[in-house]
Amino acid sequence: MSKNEARFGTLAVHAGQQPDPTTGAVMPPIYQTSTYAQSAPGEHQGHEYARVTNPTRDALEGNLAALEGAREAIAFSSGVAATDAVLRSLRPGDHVVASNDLYGGTYRLMREVLGPFGIQSDFIDMADPDRVEAVFRPETKLLWLETPTNPLLRVVDIAELSRRAKARGITVAVDNTFATPYLQRPLELGADLVVHSTTKYLGGHSDVIGGVVCTNNESWNEKLRFLIKSAGAVPGPMDCFLLLRGTKTLHLRMQRHCENAGRIADYLEAHPAVGRVYYPGLASHPGHELAARQMSGFGGMVSFQLSDPSMQAALKLLSGTRVFLLAESLGGVESLINHPATMTHASIPKDERIAAGLEDNLIRLSVGVEDCDDLLEDLEQVLASPTRRKGYGT
Ligand SMILES: *Cc1c(COP(=O)(O)O)cnc(C)c1O
Repeated sequence: MSKNEARFGTLAVHAGQQPDPTTGAVMPPIYQTSTYAQSAPGEHQGHEYARVTNPTRDALEGNLAALEGAREAIAFSSGVAATDAVLRSLRPGDHVVASNDLYGGTYRLMREVLGPFGIQSDFIDMADPDRVEAVFRPETKLLWLETPTNPLLRVVDIAELSRRAKARGITVAVDNTFATPYLQRPLELGADLVVHSTTKYLGGHSDVIGGVVCTNNESWNEKLRFLIKSAGAVPGPMDCFLLLRGTKTLHLRMQRHCENAGRIADYLEAHPAVGRVYYPGLASHPGHELAARQMSGFGGMVSFQLSDPSMQAALKLLSGTRVFLLAESLGGVESLINHPATMTHASIPKDERIAAGLEDNLIRLSVGVEDCDDLLEDLEQVLASPTRRKGYGT
C-alpha cells in the first residue's frame, strides 16, 4: 500500500514527508533560508527564493492536501491571509453570500476591508437551503460556508448548498477549521475550496499562527500560488515545522476532543443553572441528524447560555474557572472559555450580533484533551458559585 492510499491516521503521520535524503532525519528539517544557490542562471534544484517555495512548507502542504483529500494545498501565514487570498479573486460589483454566524474576522474582512473596494456581502442563516438560494444574484461569485458555525455550532448542508451554488457557477468555499478533515471533508461533498485556520486544531498546541487553502481545481491552485507569490503572506519554515508536528496527532487529539466535549455537553444540558446548550452531538440540536450524516464526530466546541440572561452573570462565570483558561482562540490541547459578545465577536455590531443569536449570556468552550473529570469539576465549581479562584499555575 503506498502512503497516498493509506488511511487518515497514517497520512497524518507520514504524508508529505520522507526521511531527509542527505542525513536520514525522520522529521523534515527547518529550511531556514531565504534563497537557494544556482549552478548557472536558472539552474537549481527546484527552489529559487523562499517567498515562492521552501522545502519545509512543501512538506506541510503535501501533508495538509492528503488530509483533506485534495490535490493541492497552499499554506499561508494565517487563517485570515488564506481567507483574504480567496476573497481577492473577487472584483468590484461581485457579491459574496456567507453565514450570519461565522468567524468574526471573516465578517470584518468581507465588510470593512473589501466592502470599500465594492465587494458586496450578505450574511444569512444557512439552515434552510431555499433561503440561501433566494439571496443568490447574477453577481454572486462566492458562497462562504462555515460548519459547524462559530459560536452557535449550527450545521450547514455542504452537499446540498454546493449543488445549488454550482448550478449557478458560484464557487463554494468551506471554512473547515472547527470540524477538521478528521471529522468532515468538504471537497468530497462538492466544495471547490477548503480553508483552515491551521492555528486551531491542525496545529493543536496554541503555539503557531497559520492558514491553508486546499483544492482539486487547477485554475484555483494557479491563482492562489500566483497571489501568495505576489502578495507574500507566506508561513515561515519554523511555523511549517510546528504545524507538521501538530498534524501527526490530529486524529488522536480529535478523538479525545470529541469524547470530552460530548460529556461536557451532556453535563451542561442537565444543569439547572444552564439554559440552552449548543452541541451538534446532542439529540436536542436542530442540526444533529445532518451532523451525524456529514461528519464522523461532533467536534470539541460547545456553547451554552446561562439561565440568567444578564451579561454580568456570564462575565462572573468566565473569570471563575481554574482549568478552562479565559482566552480567545480554540482547538488547542488546553481547554479555553470565551465570551463571544465581548471577545471573539465584538467586531459585529450589537444589533446584528443579537439578531444572529449571539446573546450577552452566551459562553463558548473549546474543550481540550485534559482529563474530563477535572473539566467537569471545574464547571461544577463555577456553576455552583461563580467567584474568582486562583488558577493551578498561580
Ligand atoms: C481563527 C479562525 C480564523 C482566522 O484564522 P487566524 O489563523 O487567526 O488568522 C478563521 N476561521 C475560523 C473558523 C477561525 O476559528
